[in-house]
Amino acid sequence: MAVASRRQPTRTGSARTRAPLARRFQLRYLLAIALFAVMLIVRFMATAQAFTTVDERSAQVTASSEQESRLYRIADLSTRIALTDGDTTSLSSQLQVEAANLRATQRGLDEGDPALALPAVAPTEELTALLDGDAGLNAQVYGIADDADAVAALAERVGPGDEQLAGPASSIVARAPETAQQVNAVTALYDGELDDAIDEQRQAQTITVVIAVILAIVLVAAVFQPMARQISNETVSLEEAERQHRENNERQTFRNDLRQALEHVQSEHEIIDAVGRAIESVVPENRAELLLAEQADGRLQAAQVNPLVGAAGCPIDGADACPAIRRGQTMVYESSRMLNVCPKLPQHAESSCSAVCAPLMFSGQALGVLHVTGGDGHPPSPTQIERLGVLATETSSRLGTLRASQATELQATTDGLTGLLNRRSVENRVRSLLASSRSFSVALADLDHFKDLNDTYGHEAGDRALRLFAKVLRDGLRPEDIPARYGGEEFVVVLPDTPPDGARAVLERLQQGLAGELAEHGGTPFTASWGLSDRTTGTTFDEIVAVADAALYAAKRAGRNCIVSGTQPATPVAPVAPTIVAPAAPTVDGVGDDGHGSGVDGTNATF
Ligand code: GH3
Ligand code: MG
Ligand code: MG
Repeated sequence: MAVASRRQPTRTGSARTRAPLARRFQLRYLLAIALFAVMLIVRFMATAQAFTTVDERSAQVTASSEQESRLYRIADLSTRIALTDGDTTSLSSQLQVEAANLRATQRGLDEGDPALALPAVAPTEELTALLDGDAGLNAQVYGIADDADAVAALAERVGPGDEQLAGPASSIVARAPETAQQVNAVTALYDGELDDAIDEQRQAQTITVVIAVILAIVLVAAVFQPMARQISNETVSLEEAERQHRENNERQTFRNDLRQALEHVQSEHEIIDAVGRAIESVVPENRAELLLAEQADGRLQAAQVNPLVGAAGCPIDGADACPAIRRGQTMVYESSRMLNVCPKLPQHAESSCSAVCAPLMFSGQALGVLHVTGGDGHPPSPTQIERLGVLATETSSRLGTLRASQATELQATTDGLTGLLNRRSVENRVRSLLASSRSFSVALADLDHFKDLNDTYGHEAGDRALRLFAKVLRDGLRPEDIPARYGGEEFVVVLPDTPPDGARAVLERLQQGLAGELAEHGGTPFTASWGLSDRTTGTTFDEIVAVADAALYAAKRAGRNCIVSGTQPATPVAPVAPTIVAPAAPTVDGVGDDGHGSGVDGTNATF
């Protein structure tokens, strides 16, 4: 399946939600803590109250049960006072104390007594009936206490063993068991209340535990679970954002590194080297190649391959046949067996494979394609594909810019018709030579009767003649020589490290070359006249050219199609006396000599 270049969206959402999330956390924690705090306070108060209740009921039970023994002690003391012959003082005072305690405790049980930890009773009907009924316990107890006091008082008055004591004492003894029984009934009631209070407390504790558990479950379900879910979601978002941020950084770093690498290089060859290093770093395990389109005919040629594992081997011929170039976008082919793949992909040496093709486009022009293959069904990863796209884009940009600037420079330095350097360029080159100590000769050529050629055969024929002459110069000179179009049908040739004699020989060879080229390819015959000078004839380019120009003028006057050397600097008052060389080629067909310089005689001449 073909897939267009992929772009990753950038996410920045998690940073936006971080502050509200923290606030929500704080609120929920505070709410949960407050709920637990309220519950604990309520529970603490309830427990404190329950302890008080249990303590009070317990004190009631204790006090009530002690009443029984007091009753029997009172009965015992009364009997002993009534029967004894000895001193009853001690017994009487004990009896009074017991009576006072009996009375006080009974009042405490009935009305409440903080000193005894006995609460003001809110009695049940049963207890009220027992305490305050017609034969209520209170009346009985107070009666016995009163009688005991009476016995003690009587004993002090009448003395021990007196018969008067027997009656009241036996009355107390007779009532004591019945009263004790009633005290027992009250004690049982208090005991029952104590059991009830303890049971209530147990129930309250059970209910508290159940409420705490339910509250905890509710808090977990309603507060902490959503929070945990939200934390989990936020964590995932943060991780995703961090991953994307890291990817963006890596992508940007790769792009910057690549740009720097391409900015550092100055030539097409160096750009291609840099692409090789980039391929090696992006897809080290994939066969890959950079195919560049020939500028002349668009044929794709492998300019670079993956240095580690070699070329992918795309058999494509021209840029026009490449779907990625035609579409102008990166193509990803999962498998060469699929129906809609590039038709060239199944022709790869491998039986079947995946591929990525990233076109190199600059200003709508196809510069080439970056072609990478992988295992069948396993194309390079999305990150690698994206980087291949970046590599193709950046390489296109650098290559296109370089070529454009080279073209501009070429345009500025060369002549469009002949492809030779233009006048400005040759001036600069001569200035460089003048700045050095090298010797050089300068020759000016002017095509003979060129106006006639134009007029007779047309301007097109004139242009062809100019191009042919340029070709003769290029073919006949050394690489270090500098041929240039000086303007119109005038040319200049600079010959470094060449003395005038040597230069003359070169020019003669060029004359012959022109004649030979015309003879070989036909066309309109023409000749050229040459004027020659060297660096000794002046200190500036203009001075040296002026000498050559004067010599050229002499050559024209000498009959054209010849070479004249200037031997000394030309001055307006004293023109150079040139040396004339015989013509080497016939005159232009149909263009007769205008009569000037008919003195050319085939030998060098000075005039
Ligand atoms: P002479 O032998 O004295 O040099 O005669 P000439 O006709 O060559 O000299 P002239 O200076 O009178 O003519 C130069 C001609 O060169 C004039 C112009 O039409 C022609 N010419 C200059 N530049 C070009 C060019 O780029 N293409 C063509 N076809 N002709 C050009
Ligand atoms: Mg001319
Ligand atoms: Mg001319």
